Amino acid sequence: MPAAARPLILAYHAVSSTWASPLAVTEEALASQAAYLRRRGYRGLTLAEAERLRAGGELPPRSVVFTFDDGYRSTLRAADILERHGYSGTVFAVTAFPASGGHLSWPGIEHELTAATAEQLEPLSWDDLAALRDRGWEVGSHTVTHALLTEADDAGLAAELRDSRRAIADCLGACATVAYPYGVADARVAAAAREAGYLAACTLTGAHVDDEPHLRPRLGMTSADTGPRLRAKVSPLGVALRRSGAARTVRRLRRRRNWLPAAGSTG
Ligand SMILES: [Zn+2]
Repeated sequence: MPAAARPLILAYHAVSSTWASPLAVTEEALASQAAYLRRRGYRGLTLAEAERLRAGGELPPRSVVFTFDDGYRSTLRAADILERHGYSGTVFAVTAFPASGGHLSWPGIEHELTAATAEQLEPLSWDDLAALRDRGWEVGSHTVTHALLTEADDAGLAAELRDSRRAIADCLGACATVAYPYGVADARVAAAAREAGYLAACTLTGAHVDDEPHLRPRLGMTSADTGPRLRAKVSPLGVALRRSGAARTVRRLRRRRNWLPAAGSTG
């Protein structure tokens, strides 16, 4: 499949110019990234829209999907920034949090919660998620508890996927996609997502060799991705390199230590 037939799927977490965390990109960086893609003529889609257009062979030559994992309240700030550039996004919510209102916390990010950062870890409420939906956003699942699905038993895996999808559909009317916590999935997890009724599902991987509806790769974005670095990252050549065998080798060498909870994941 030629490069143009894939959407550019970008992965973010929080957006903050005052929180120095690997989970956050600055507002300036997000604005600069959106402005660049707008100048380059990228059309914005939600993940479900991109999947449906792709299935029908109608994906625009240049399309971008802005995705935000976990459901930080700062996603609302991201929505304001993206809206200025004519984009919406897709937020993947961890459904145990919108109703409880408790700070976002799971293995790998507990150390982020301090008195100074508590505000950054506040979750979107169901009302916030409904407001995003009303602004053209898609609300997808990031499971119920942010579980590492590759380690869950079959029943636990099915429940995380099914119960989160049901909660979002009950509150917001629909839930078509899921992002795997820690960006990690294998063939069993992908099959379970398909079985649970999801149209598509996202990983978070440096190599983009695997690409089927329930293992869609994404580009993890940081505040450093501006200027020449951003241009290289989203260029057709950059995308082709990540899809190559060399990228797979690099990924193997790096292993998964960058995002597994045991090694200090950033979620
Ligand atoms: Zn996450």
